[in-house]
Amino acid sequence: MLRIAVQSKGRLYDETMDLLKAAGIKLVAVKRTLLVPSRNFPVELLFLRDDDIPASVASGTADVGIVGLNEVLEKRQYVNVLRPLGFSRCRLSLAIPKDEEYTGLEWFNGKTIATSYPNVLNEFLEKQNIDACVHEISGSVEVAPGIGMADGIFDIVSSGGTLISNNLKEVETVIDSEAVLIGNDKYLNDEKREVLDELIFRIEAVKAAEKKKYMLMNVPLDKLDAVLEILPGIKSPTILPLADDRWRSVHAVLDEKDLWSVINQLKNVGAEGILVLNIEEMVP
Ligand code: ATP
Ligand code: MG
Repeated sequence: MLRIAVQSKGRLYDETMDLLKAAGIKLVAVKRTLLVPSRNFPVELLFLRDDDIPASVASGTADVGIVGLNEVLEKRQYVNVLRPLGFSRCRLSLAIPKDEEYTGLEWFNGKTIATSYPNVLNEFLEKQNIDACVHEISGSVEVAPGIGMADGIFDIVSSGGTLISNNLKEVETVIDSEAVLIGNDKYLNDEKREVLDELIFRIEAVKAAEKKKYMLMNVPLDKLDAVLEILPGIKSPTILPLADDRWRSVHAVLDEKDLWSVINQLKNVGAEGILVLNIEEMVP
């Protein structure tokens, strides 16, 4: 049984559960408990605060975990990043009051910076030769300059809305973060390794299918070249015969973002009966 540490509630929770569900992992319906087994796959979920996930994996309490890269870098635990997962994207940035004139990183020399990420920040400041005072606080970092507690902040930014509403401006991005799958191969036996390989295989399949569409259409034989001309760049269109030899059935995979422009072009050159399917539903 492979144990996966996941956030019990918060910004990672929904997409973590969506990913595991898309990977075909169904949970035993239990009330909110710490440890929940799957009913169809040899894994169990350990629900934790995100701060505790890197240490749980480093110590072997959990075999793998799903957590933000920002926490992995801050916590300095012995874990490997096995795979980026593409959700909960954000960045760790330096921000200062919006009316300050920013002159470059030297602005921070002699200043106080409030953050919940002192390790990542100290490492960055050291590398950049900036001598600033790092003030660690655990939450509501963005209010620190407004109440005179710090000159600037180092915190998570995604849309930037929180900065704006606190009269701050982002001046340096230090790291880009997203949710990642972490592991620690020290404790894995053969059985767990096999389950982990299957889990990673399924995650890869889900990620590959995301934002892709499967498209089928009927094409008159004399329009086939024109249709294939619209489809290049799209992976391996397949051409199949139909009972009526004047027609072909064409199947292709394409990016969701191209869907409507491709459909319009295909219609214009004479493709008929265009059908679009979600690929997620075809992943085992
Ligand atoms: P916990 O109670 O588990 O300690 P938390 O309050 O520390 O939760 P959350 O706010 O739930 O943390 O954020 C969890 C993670 O989600 C962050 O560490 C970061 O990787 C990511 N994240 C945070 N804010 C955003 C955001 N605005 N947009 C996208 N991802 C974010
Ligand atoms: Mg936390």
